Amino acid sequence: MSSQEALLYEKADNKKVKCNLCGRRCLINDGGTGFCLVRKNEGGRLFSLVYGKAISASVDPIEKKPLSHFNPGALVMSIATMGCNFRCQFCDNWMISQDKNVAGKNFPPGEVVKAARDNACTGISYTYTEPTIFFEYAYDTAKLAKQVGFFNTFVTNGYMTPEAVKTIAPYLDAATVDFKGGADPEFYKTFSAVPSVTPIFEALQEMKRNDIHVEITNLVVPKIGDSIERIKELAIWIKDALGKGTPFHLLRFHPDYKLTTASATPVETLEKAYMASKDAGLNYVYIGNVPGHPSENTYCPNCNELLIKRYAFEIVRWNLAKDMRCPVCGTEIPIIGKLNPGGHSYPYALF
Ligand code: SF4
Repeated sequence: MSSQEALLYEKADNKKVKCNLCGRRCLINDGGTGFCLVRKNEGGRLFSLVYGKAISASVDPIEKKPLSHFNPGALVMSIATMGCNFRCQFCDNWMISQDKNVAGKNFPPGEVVKAARDNACTGISYTYTEPTIFFEYAYDTAKLAKQVGFFNTFVTNGYMTPEAVKTIAPYLDAATVDFKGGADPEFYKTFSAVPSVTPIFEALQEMKRNDIHVEITNLVVPKIGDSIERIKELAIWIKDALGKGTPFHLLRFHPDYKLTTASATPVETLEKAYMASKDAGLNYVYIGNVPGHPSENTYCPNCNELLIKRYAFEIVRWNLAKDMRCPVCGTEIPIIGKLNPGGHSYPYALF
């Protein structure tokens, strides 16, 4: 269950193939693999080496993705395979994203959906590593999940081609798109080995055209990726291209992998980034990875009423009227789905 012919590739001369899943558009020689190491050319045909081969499966509160305006309180079955199309020096899942060996447990799409149901989940999330590189597995699972009424979400670096977005769109309800360093192209080149950030913006526009609910994160990395001007520029782009109601999460960096000498992001830096993003015109800006910070909460953009109080992944107070309106001034708050009571706020791993 690990070798499946790829979607979205084209054949080229001399048994080469071109993969059109992500912005790298790798041209792969016969016998070679793509940059992500999990897509292989065998005799002029491209195969996924990780189809149905999960390296991790967990039950997560949806707030962990983070998705704050989509089915709040829901539980999701999170799955990942090995591999990634980025080389982030600060990756907190580097053991599974950067390992050259393709490992994993046989966990076909039908079993993923069954495990979701058995664990009281109402959706599936393709996450931890980059879902684009296990696209066929995600696609088949998402299709099956939809048939039984579940939703699907990607947590992605956004480096997807428009073709990939269009292909998964009928089954993809929401995406968390993760920026790093304020989308600074030099930061991406230096710390993630990504030649251009343009494909991320193109993918986001394609998601919008396909009515996929999008929430954006930006990892604020102290000293090397914490320019407030850049963060404000990114916030302005989000407002203009995706709308002022798009949730924008500013995430605190923690040292990991090859960037262990860097410090955690000072909370004051995150607060400056928060103010700059609000000044840019975004209505829903959040600070993430700082449990207990007031900017974990949702406030009414009109009257500033506290609408959803959170602590880390937990909703501790819900103060919205049934039709998702502010109970004080009646402003409609863009939240998809309904509050899912009875979930839990701590993740647990199946494997
Ligand atoms: S998904 Fe992998 S093989 Fe395909 S273009 Fe991206 S890095 Fe290359």
